[in-house]
Amino acid sequence: MTPYKRKRYWNEPRMSAWERAYLPEILRGLSITSGIFLRNMGRWMTGRKGALTTYYPEETRADYAPRNRGKHVLTQRPDGKPQCIACNLCATVCPAKVIEIEAGFDPADTVHPKFPLRFEIDYSRCVFCGLCVEACPEDAIRMAKEVPGLPAEDRHQMWLTLDEMLQWQAQRDAAKPYPASASPPAAPAPTAAGDRGHP
Ligand code: SF4
Ligand code: SF4
Repeated sequence: MTPYKRKRYWNEPRMSAWERAYLPEILRGLSITSGIFLRNMGRWMTGRKGALTTYYPEETRADYAPRNRGKHVLTQRPDGKPQCIACNLCATVCPAKVIEIEAGFDPADTVHPKFPLRFEIDYSRCVFCGLCVEACPEDAIRMAKEVPGLPAEDRHQMWLTLDEMLQWQAQRDAAKPYPASASPPAAPAPTAAGDRGHP
């Protein structure tokens, strides 16, 4: 039986005798790393900025990618209540399963009786894909281009709550205004033919 011959690629690098000696290249790599370290350290000690790093949290980067989606916002109705109808579509579509919604029921609100009692996103696991925004049928959840203050010492502090999402950057759906106060729908006018749907 022919022994297995591993495939070789056309651009496989070939090491020179100097590189195969191993130690000289190790020393060369160490000298590059140490040189950069000492240069940055010298700049830092003399009050100048060395490496291209951001000294968080004193500094925040201004060059986030233009496609950075940002942080979640829940839109409000004119009375300040969440526009969300707690349909759970966003939680269902979320690939990381980080949205938790507890639905409430308000029989006095005849227009939208279902609302979120609790709406939370676990930012320690959110991948900021924006699918929740795409899935929402009510334009009730958006993402605003803001860098979320993510770092925390405890991941249990990284839950984004309903109040925070409603208040930190209040937004409304101007394209679909709600009535200031929900009123019961008008009864259909009686017709001479009566109710044709129910003979
Ligand atoms: S952005 Fe993506 S991962 Fe984060 S809550 Fe929305 S759907 Fe889930
Ligand atoms: S945010 Fe939108 S998709 Fe999510 S529960 Fe509320 S209405 Fe449904």
